[in-house]
Amino acid sequence: MNFSSQEFKQQFPLFSQAENRELVYLDNAATTQKPACVIDAIRDFYLHSNANTHRSSHRLARRATEMVERVRAASARFLGAESPREIIFTRGATEGLNLLANSLCRGLVAGDEIILSTAEHHANLVPWQMLAAQYGLVLRFVPDANGVPQIDRIAEVLSPRTRVVSITGGSNALGFRTDLAALRATLAAKSSAATSSGAVSSQGDLRWIVDGSQLVAHDVVDVAAIGCDFFVCSAHKFYGPTGLGLVYGREALLRELPPWQGGGEMITSVDLLASDYADLPHRFEAGTSSLAAIAGLGACLEFLGKQDRLAMAQYEQSLLAYLHDRLSQIPELELLSDARNNLGIASFVHARCAAIDIAQWLDGRDIAVRVGHHCAQPLLHAAGHTATVRASLVAYNSKEDIDRLIAGVEELLRQLDDTAEPQPAAADSA
Ligand code: PMP
Repeated sequence: MNFSSQEFKQQFPLFSQAENRELVYLDNAATTQKPACVIDAIRDFYLHSNANTHRSSHRLARRATEMVERVRAASARFLGAESPREIIFTRGATEGLNLLANSLCRGLVAGDEIILSTAEHHANLVPWQMLAAQYGLVLRFVPDANGVPQIDRIAEVLSPRTRVVSITGGSNALGFRTDLAALRATLAAKSSAATSSGAVSSQGDLRWIVDGSQLVAHDVVDVAAIGCDFFVCSAHKFYGPTGLGLVYGREALLRELPPWQGGGEMITSVDLLASDYADLPHRFEAGTSSLAAIAGLGACLEFLGKQDRLAMAQYEQSLLAYLHDRLSQIPELELLSDARNNLGIASFVHARCAAIDIAQWLDGRDIAVRVGHHCAQPLLHAAGHTATVRASLVAYNSKEDIDRLIAGVEELLRQLDDTAEPQPAAADSA
């Protein structure tokens, strides 16, 4: 295996700061730490290239514009897109999903149907609820088992009125991956039965979105191989900066879509009563983009390009198996996640101790986990919980991190055992 987690971790300066030497960071599904090259690229942008793009013809503006378009092209290669015109920069996955929901729903009529799953992050649920209320659309959900979508049963909710299927590539709360190959096959079969040739999407009139927010840190993503129409992710979840998301869309489909946000940069001419919109991809990028973050993303993509991603993934899998194995040996601890086919996440509760108490105890030992509903309330409710403790791994984590986590939980449970009258558990946080 050509991957050293120790060497990898050395590239993340946060961990070598005096106050973080003992830190065990297991909140990577929320956001990853940043390698030095990303931090440096952001600083370099402000030091050497800071200017707004596309507007002026001066040297710095040209440099900033070239940088943005270079990173757009690198992002297209990174995700397997055919052209940089298929990449839109947003302020995050949330904004990307709002963009797609708003633009796609504008072409729909009352009674049209959107298919989602119980496992969606609120970012891929709430925008659709808002638009369903506005346009009279119907939200339908893939059948699930305790909240876990049964993709092989999606045909049960597909109908001639289905216009959009928007599904997470993997759960940020429990870690399971979605079987995107099965989804693709079902959608393709539906469209070949329902539509004639000449459709711009391989799914006919139906548009298929993958919320890839949790995938990119762990998998080499190839949107062409996935076969989706749109793919959304946030740079900060794969070692890149905050304030930046990527939306991939098939060019022919993006060309059909109305823009969502209006403003500067997305027009060619503006009249008092009407405007002409710019070409792709700028028509979807109203206002000033997160330019420094885009510079940081450029460095991040180079950084990832130098890693043996397969070896990284294998390393993460072995760590995840170890984490699940150790957790499963703790009495009265219920593991909601499964180590198999999982994006680096262990989610658990304990019969005698509220999730919030576990997380706070661990925080007191400099072990960072997440607690709550993880912005996936319907999934947690279907699984019978309001909150879990979530430990999420990436490639700079180690066996020692997991040993510290387990020792922390065991210490807390020993304390509880030793207390004659245990403290009542505090209410779980939202
Ligand atoms: N979808 C999923 C699956 C996520 O995990 C997240 C972030 N937790 C989002 C969407 C939203 O990402 P962001 O907050 O970066 O916009």
